[in-house]
Amino acid sequence: MSFVITPPAAVSVPVVGQTARFPVRRIYCVGRNYEEHAKEMGFTGREPPFFFMKPADALVVVDEGTTGKMPYPSLTQNFHHEIELVVAIGTGGKNIQAADAEKHIYGYAVGLDMTRRDLQNDMKKQGRPWCIGKAFDHSAPIGPITPKASAGDVNHASIDLQVNGADRQRSTVGKLIWNVAETIEHLSAAWELQPGDLIYTGTPEGVAAVVAGDTLVGHVAGLSTLKIQVVAA
Ligand code: MN
Repeated sequence: MSFVITPPAAVSVPVVGQTARFPVRRIYCVGRNYEEHAKEMGFTGREPPFFFMKPADALVVVDEGTTGKMPYPSLTQNFHHEIELVVAIGTGGKNIQAADAEKHIYGYAVGLDMTRRDLQNDMKKQGRPWCIGKAFDHSAPIGPITPKASAGDVNHASIDLQVNGADRQRSTVGKLIWNVAETIEHLSAAWELQPGDLIYTGTPEGVAAVVAGDTLVGHVAGLSTLKIQVVAA
């Protein structure tokens, strides 16, 4: 097959313990999925799950043991970190029941749902889409995917983020309002999930701004650490 322009490169994420990579199709994100974060954003934390998306090529893929780099984005004065557990879908499906969700999961990774908070807040006030605040270039750093059999009890793992060595976010995945299985049930009622889909499951409280030069280190117990530095554009 020939193309009239060069096709974009396929996006993929390394997998812990093997050379074959995980190819990425879509990135789904869950909004306000920890009660204390919902409260800090001015909500009660008792609403049904809701979703937004980022393009696959917004990923900043960071290899094991390395420090990634993400450029400080344009148009913002309030660039926020959101540490999140990421679920990698290995088997697709629609109308998946929570009880069956586990078999659709390939593995898990640590991700950052980076946010131009000032622009997101403007869009909220105006009732406009969040894309400019959430789905910009380099907005989705991710570390290597750990296959589920090696990941331990991710549903109750600690999740935390340090900026320049100081704690910013610290919680447990057990505090998700909608846990991973329930999230997959809701998400797959709205979209047919496919192999290669990623789900950013939401962030706990403590979101705040970073600036060029800051180094972010994120953990979910049992998974590969994500380390990334913000660099001047
Ligand atoms: Mn988020």
